[in-house]
Amino acid sequence: MFENSTKTSLDSFGEFNLIKKLTENYVSKKPNLILGIGDDAALVKPNPDKLQVYSTNFMVENINFDIAYTPLKHLGYKAVVASISDIYAMNATPKFIMVSIAMSSKYTLEALEELYEGIYAACEKYEVDLIGGDTNTSPQGLSLSLTACGEVDENKYVTRAGCKMNDLLCVSGDLGGAYLGHQLLEREKRVFVANPEMQPDLEGYDYIVGRQLKPEARKDVVELLDSLNIIPTSMIDISNGLASELKHLAIKSNVGFSIFEEKLPVDTQTLQLASEFHLDATMCALNGGEDYELLFTIGQSDFEKIKSNMDITIIGYATDQANICQLITPSGSQFDIKAQGWN
Ligand SMILES: [Mg+2]
Repeated sequence: MFENSTKTSLDSFGEFNLIKKLTENYVSKKPNLILGIGDDAALVKPNPDKLQVYSTNFMVENINFDIAYTPLKHLGYKAVVASISDIYAMNATPKFIMVSIAMSSKYTLEALEELYEGIYAACEKYEVDLIGGDTNTSPQGLSLSLTACGEVDENKYVTRAGCKMNDLLCVSGDLGGAYLGHQLLEREKRVFVANPEMQPDLEGYDYIVGRQLKPEARKDVVELLDSLNIIPTSMIDISNGLASELKHLAIKSNVGFSIFEEKLPVDTQTLQLASEFHLDATMCALNGGEDYELLFTIGQSDFEKIKSNMDITIIGYATDQANICQLITPSGSQFDIKAQGWN
């Protein structure tokens, strides 16, 4: 798809010129950044009142993304979102990112510029500064490694450990949409491969396709919790699926969870497409990944502050049955939740 002779091959560009070309118009914003891109390393003056928070995320073509239906601009955006989502999951604010890219010769300069357009768009939206990275060639495909750095008040960071029995389990947004968006894009790709005359039929599913291709990180939720004076007792972002993240919270906090099936927030497009694919919407909500919502627990005393918020759903509570996570159906049956995750 990139083998167009009017495009610029990366071989004709040295690494120095490439980085210069990709970053020449970029203006960094953070006042405590002493030196950004362009030297051997970046220089940052840390805020003495804060803890520094670091996280890394690695994405590999045909493992984590398919370039056949992922626009490169979206991919760049999503890579930033995935990396800063982990910073928000610590109740922290992302400040800086570093991006390293390895790509094969099928990627042209124009393709890489499109990828960076997405990276810059996410930097702008989430107010983070790109402060460095590296580029290299790869015998096959495209790989992206992003390191995010953020900060948090010493008394406000939130880990996966700290949830206590009877704490309320909350989730932001809705679940399963990114998974069904992926299923839909895969189906349309199969149709296209079988008959290239066919145009993809994504009509009516713009929301869930967007959930897959251009997810957002929940900056707003971290800000909301702060404004409500709520510090969650534990928190994690949903990158692999609710079931798998729930297990992480249970193991680290040494509690169990009971969640109510009818409380799981699922969008109508997700429900509709699940039925079209003969998939169980609850299973999609439990095991579909890449929603990048926040899953967190709060003490019961914080219930009043959060109960009327439309974007936060209380889906269950913590029990003293260590590591046992159960789904309670509307009829009252209980099932053990297995962490399946999702590729
Ligand atoms: Mg995470």
